[in-house]
Amino acid sequence: MRLMIHLFRAYPMPSFLMVLALFLSGLAEGLGLSAMLPMLNIALASGEAAETASPPGELEQMVLDVLAWLGVPPTLGALLLLIVAMATLKAILLLAAQRQVGYTAARVATDLRLEVLRNMMRSRWSFFLHQPAGRLTNALATEAQRAADAYMFGTTALTFFIQAIIYGSVALAVSWQATLIGLLAGAAVIWLSHYLVRTARRAGKRQTDLMSSLMSHLTDTLQSVKPLKAMAREGQTDDMLRGETARLNKALRKQVLAGAALDAGQDLMFVILIAFGVYLAIGVLSMQFATVLILAVALGRTFAFLGKVQKQYQKLAQAESAYWSLKETSARAKAEQEHLGGHVAPTLERGIVLRDVRFAYEGHSVLGGLDLEIPARRITTLVGPSGSGKTTVIDLVIGLLRPEAGEIFIDGVPFETIDLRAWRRMVGYVPQETVLLHDTVLHNVTLGDPTISEARVRAALEKAGAWDFVAALPEGLETLVGERGGRLSGGQRQRIAIARALINAPQLLILDEATSALDPESEAAIIATLRSLRRDLTILAITHNEALAQAADVVHRLEVGGTLSRAG
Ligand code: ADP
Repeated sequence: MRLMIHLFRAYPMPSFLMVLALFLSGLAEGLGLSAMLPMLNIALASGEAAETASPPGELEQMVLDVLAWLGVPPTLGALLLLIVAMATLKAILLLAAQRQVGYTAARVATDLRLEVLRNMMRSRWSFFLHQPAGRLTNALATEAQRAADAYMFGTTALTFFIQAIIYGSVALAVSWQATLIGLLAGAAVIWLSHYLVRTARRAGKRQTDLMSSLMSHLTDTLQSVKPLKAMAREGQTDDMLRGETARLNKALRKQVLAGAALDAGQDLMFVILIAFGVYLAIGVLSMQFATVLILAVALGRTFAFLGKVQKQYQKLAQAESAYWSLKETSARAKAEQEHLGGHVAPTLERGIVLRDVRFAYEGHSVLGGLDLEIPARRITTLVGPSGSGKTTVIDLVIGLLRPEAGEIFIDGVPFETIDLRAWRRMVGYVPQETVLLHDTVLHNVTLGDPTISEARVRAALEKAGAWDFVAALPEGLETLVGERGGRLSGGQRQRIAIARALINAPQLLILDEATSALDPESEAAIIATLRSLRRDLTILAITHNEALAQAADVVHRLEVGGTLSRAG
């Protein structure tokens, strides 16, 4: 219920239009139904003499008055025509309302997806690193869809509720005493069935939690399929995921059972109620047949619709937790927004200086007072054993991490005062593991930026020593690189990643062990390129590679524990 209030507030206009269309369609249905009463009387009385026909009841008289006012004669043909006209109007209005609901539900899913994605992308790096990729994928795919479904269920419940009110009102007008008794009995049935709604809600919540954890484990496993297959351990994935899939299965079965039990149990109880009511009205109270018939139809439909309301509400309760889980993910990411620094436009004419920088990951000290200079338009390399903090230094320079103590200056300007996004736009970054997008070579270099011309892409690929092999591919720049770039070799992927870093003419090129997968020839070519680029480019590279270290102007050697020796 809270979900519907939330969404009605978020989308007031579409929701208002939908409720209006639903209400009007309900009204049309009610009018059509009311016209049935005089029609029935006419039909039943057609064989009898006029004087023995029963006088019109209160509702019937009302309907006859309205008909007279509309200029419709109370004949069988006119009444049937009115019923058909009202049913048509109802169908059109219902179609309009349902279209509105469908569109809004699609918007709910899209808006939720974008909200989570934006908040995640803007969150601090150290927060983002701890978010399992599978959980995020699950939020964007499954949870957003279930949230939109929940909205659909909620509005469908509302549709049925409005129809229940209309039928209830007709029944009330026919006989308020009988209707009141009927409604009380109906309420008891709804109340008795409510525990099935609670069961479904709990099972739905379990589904949300389990899906999230299952998807994060699954994504992890899928990323390491090659070693698993290579060592014939793929069977272990079953064992790893069996527990969670079994519990998920159990939750889904509970949902099915709760749904089916509600369907079957409720319908049966309502039928018994109606049968008992009809018996009471005709057998005991000797009420008029036409009145009983219309009452049975009106109350029967009221119950049927109230039952449907509860069934939709059960589905809503089942799916609702996905919406709240997604909202929570989004809010957590929002609370961890990255501070984008100050407003000073950065330059890189002199260089970058780290002064007495300290950094620790969750209490584990990595840099303990590091002093380091990265002169502009030079090649600087960071060397040292793994775990000595080389990547951490790079993350500090890009502003993905912030030092605990000490300062970083860019051309003498304190880092915190610099416009961080402007600074990052000056950076070309080549990561250690090159994972390409499942797209063309062209798209992998431009990252989808349509303003970048093919000529520029070619120039960047040439600089990165990649043009020769790209030109030799069957479709050149338009060749698909396969899932994660799997159709290219490690060295080829690295060169494409270098081209991607060079495409926007960066002023600072960062290479995180970016030449590790290259053969000596390509490597020599890249090093020659880097040396020629350094006239207008500052290069900072982590490397284990002797040739690159030798080509560097400055070599910083980091030791585990954050000590530094400078060579070169
Ligand atoms: P290098 O690049 O020299 O191999 P890193 O800068 O990647 O070293 O890591 C330095 C140390 O920090 C390592 O001991 C590593 O385990 C730890 N570390 C790196 N990233 C994280 C992280 N996100 N959370 C916790 N510890 C980390």
